[in-house]
Amino acid sequence: MRIGFGYDSHRLEEDRPCILGGVLIPGVPGPSGFSDGDAVAHAVIDALLGAAALGDIGSHFPPGDERWRDADSMDLLRRAVARVRRAGHRVGNVDITVVCESPKIAPVADAIRESLGQRLGIDPGSVSVKGKSNEGMGWEGRREGIAVYAVALLLAP
Ligand code: MG
Repeated sequence: MRIGFGYDSHRLEEDRPCILGGVLIPGVPGPSGFSDGDAVAHAVIDALLGAAALGDIGSHFPPGDERWRDADSMDLLRRAVARVRRAGHRVGNVDITVVCESPKIAPVADAIRESLGQRLGIDPGSVSVKGKSNEGMGWEGRREGIAVYAVALLLAP
């Protein structure tokens, strides 16, 4: 067994679609970024790559590389999972904490679990998504951005 940890943060902007874990959340500011800004997908990618000691998202999909402009981050996740599998691992489970005032995560948590489970090739029962407000404190509390923390367990195939 191997464990990995991932973190990501993005600014929230009015004119950006809000896509988290591949799920479009309508009517709220979304994460900015070179890709689609899906901070949940990015944190999970880093947790998986970290568990396999395969570097990080920036080393596999460099921002500024035109191939990844406006990239669908769930496609990046699919590629990351393939690399982790080629290195001789399979995904066990992931646990994710999203810190933001907006959007509210609880109403979309099950949809994100389903979406991530599909890309990871695991049951939604092995994908946990938890939302936390920051009680109004700091940049998350001021709705300036979103922070995501993720851990992933890799198992022998
Ligand atoms: Mg990111």
